[in-house]
Amino acid sequence: MNMKTKTELLRMGIKELEDFMDSIGEPRYRGRQVHKWIYKKAVSSFYDMSDLSRDLRTKLDELARISIPRVLKQRASIDGTRKFLMELEDKKRIESVIIPHSRNKDTRYTLCISTQVGCPVGCVFCATGNSGFQRNLEAYEMIGQVLGSERELRKRLKSNENGLITNVVYMGMGEPMLNYDQVIKSIYSLNDPKGINIGQRHITISTSGDVRGINRLAQENLQVTLAISLHACSNELRDRLIPLNRKYPLEELIKSIKQYIRLTNRRVTFEYLLLDGVNNRKEDAEKLITMLKPLLANVNLIPYNEVEGLEFKQPSPQQVNEFYHYLLQAGVNVTLREEKGADIEAACGQLRAGYRK
Ligand code: SF4
Repeated sequence: MNMKTKTELLRMGIKELEDFMDSIGEPRYRGRQVHKWIYKKAVSSFYDMSDLSRDLRTKLDELARISIPRVLKQRASIDGTRKFLMELEDKKRIESVIIPHSRNKDTRYTLCISTQVGCPVGCVFCATGNSGFQRNLEAYEMIGQVLGSERELRKRLKSNENGLITNVVYMGMGEPMLNYDQVIKSIYSLNDPKGINIGQRHITISTSGDVRGINRLAQENLQVTLAISLHACSNELRDRLIPLNRKYPLEELIKSIKQYIRLTNRRVTFEYLLLDGVNNRKEDAEKLITMLKPLLANVNLIPYNEVEGLEFKQPSPQQVNEFYHYLLQAGVNVTLREEKGADIEAACGQLRAGYRK
């Protein structure tokens, strides 16, 4: 049996794994054992599942697979951020970024995952958007990034501890709303208390402004955080930076966000990349204040991380500070994001499917 015809167990929760064991003539509790190996120990080889009999391990290996993506390469930043280049079953490559955060001597990790191979949106400042689109990821491939990263992390830390990754942000390669169903499916799987068990409030979905997706998310009754990559407060500029704005102009986007806030009662986060000479003037800050203050939104300012071959530049620290204080003094709930991993091209907008040699 080749890999394609084998049953993918990463698509399954406990109940489906029990059913699967039933279907191959094994007791249902075997499904619970395998579930534990996959989701608690991030094991993908049946031969490592030491509480299964030798015969069952061989049988499972013939019939099934657990496609946790392989980490082909990793790069570490001086700030502790790590970027993983992962290979999927069909040899396509994606990137995930793991960002440490410490509290009371305890370090936990946020994982930034990809939802597509490449991205069809084509934002002009983004390395991913400039390298084209190949395909959507399936939910199990998003889950696989979490398990593959957790496994890598444990190996490096020589730890058997479970749940080092406590937060997941859908901000890697791809526009999550253009792969909506699979993204939502993966959130329920991440959230499963018997599985990876990441709380919904520890999950963020970021969109470049896909109104259809925002409207659908508003109906889901999920406690996740919605983040909007805004980056411009006029349609003229936003059309140029984020081509999706031509389909969903700012008026429509803001209307949909207002409705989202009304229906979910949740605060929305706006990401605003600071691009030197493009969107960081005083009048840009004023427009931002007018647009976002009434929404009681959180605003993350992100000094742009330069990408080789692209025209955009990072503003000086002084310009960044001025912009930040302007918003702060106007009463906007603003944070200057301490950008992680820029030295390894793992920061916002720097991901692309492969390392340049
Ligand atoms: S910024 Fe996001 S939506 Fe825009 S091209 Fe890059 S990955 Fe796609």
